[in-house]
Amino acid sequence: MLSGYIPEFRTRFRATIMGIIMGLLNERIQMMPRKELDELQLKLLKAQARRLYELSPFYRERMKAKNVTPEDIRTLDDSAKLPFMTKKDLRDFYPDKLFTVPRREIIRYHASSGTTGKPTIVGYTRKDIDMWAESLGRSLTSVGLGEDDVIQVANTYGLFTGGLGFHYAAERIGAAVVPASTGNTERQIQMIQDLGVTAYAATPSYMMYVGEVAEKMGIDLKQSTLKTGLLGAEPWSDKMRDRIQSQYGIRGINCFGASELSGPLFTECSEQTGIHFWKDVALVEIIDPETHEKLGPGESGEMVITMLQKEAFPIIRYRIGDITMLEEDTCSCGRAHPRITRITGRVDDMLIIRGINVFPSQVEHCLNTNPEVGNEFQILVERKGHLDEMLVKVELKPEAFTDNILELNALRERITSKLRNSLNVGAKVELVPPGSLPRYEGKAKRVKDTREI
Ligand code: AMP
Ligand code: ZN
Repeated sequence: MLSGYIPEFRTRFRATIMGIIMGLLNERIQMMPRKELDELQLKLLKAQARRLYELSPFYRERMKAKNVTPEDIRTLDDSAKLPFMTKKDLRDFYPDKLFTVPRREIIRYHASSGTTGKPTIVGYTRKDIDMWAESLGRSLTSVGLGEDDVIQVANTYGLFTGGLGFHYAAERIGAAVVPASTGNTERQIQMIQDLGVTAYAATPSYMMYVGEVAEKMGIDLKQSTLKTGLLGAEPWSDKMRDRIQSQYGIRGINCFGASELSGPLFTECSEQTGIHFWKDVALVEIIDPETHEKLGPGESGEMVITMLQKEAFPIIRYRIGDITMLEEDTCSCGRAHPRITRITGRVDDMLIIRGINVFPSQVEHCLNTNPEVGNEFQILVERKGHLDEMLVKVELKPEAFTDNILELNALRERITSKLRNSLNVGAKVELVPPGSLPRYEGKAKRVKDTREI
């Protein structure tokens, strides 16, 4: 018995020591003074620029075209000398031509919707998975979560990064995870009650829906153990936050990430005054989307992100398309890591439907694979209750339009199912006669989004 006990004791002892060391390192980096953080960030930026110049033909060519070498990166402001990267690059180099490690070093793939038919594939080395969990885990501790918490993850598990992202981060900080994924709302509420769930990761609109279903079930979330909502993946407003906080007695913590960057990575701290971007994980800049000039703190513009330690699929000066502002002053929580304020819009036409990115070009691409479909379509998005609904009106070619309801229904079902597979989110389809949708003299306005957030 004793011989079995000693190895177990050793393992536990080692785990405890590792836990203490990781906790101290975590605390140290979170509270590091600005000057030290800047030095660390510059060191990482230089190393990443050098690594990519040496390893990646894509980045080397891009840097050469801008007449910049890794030696030219001497200060943090020199990041502006580096070339941009766009969603188009991700599409052009599909699926893994921008990866900078051999296949055997990849231990996971995720995917997110691309601008046309093909998704963006993201590969991860062991270190990438580790950094991802470290970054989000750190953020979770910054809102006071830890070993005493039970975190229910109601983001989708699978190719989408939300589920596994929160899952690994929650495990890393020693919390107990309930991997609920999306759907089955009544059961989710049952779990919150039965397991004493303290934090719930979801899209803000799903959080509202959960609250509403709980009310219908006669359950008052205010009286439950649930105290924190880890909410993101879609735009939401302070008004919506106020509603969630006052109606359900839950702090609504804004969380940000994107699959190209790894997945969900950063959150607000307990002060709820903007999302902290860890300086050793990412360098964030705000630029004028037209002139590409770097903007200062407090100026609204397009966010550009450089991931400083990513290995498999490096990201430098990525024009992610989100519009926000940067706050550089030290937060009242004491952390000197910069913050972004709420994301107020996009520079492109990307829609977020139930947390899933949808590009009108993707819809168009999918519709065009059906020979019966004509030239025009329209996307109508609204919020019904708390959930997004998308309706796609599709004009048929004259030869395909018929009075035969059965035939039309069969075609509608075929297109609906194709769209669902292509977009990863459901849309209703309405087939309309040729020439019945609006035509445009200037830029077409094919999307009508009436959601209020
Ligand atoms: P994905 O790659 O599917 O994770 O989508 C990433 C995109 O989701 C971002 O570029 C943002 O447009 C959006 N997003 C993620 N988190 C938030 C948030 N907290 N507020 C607003 N938009 C968000
Ligand atoms: Zn803070």
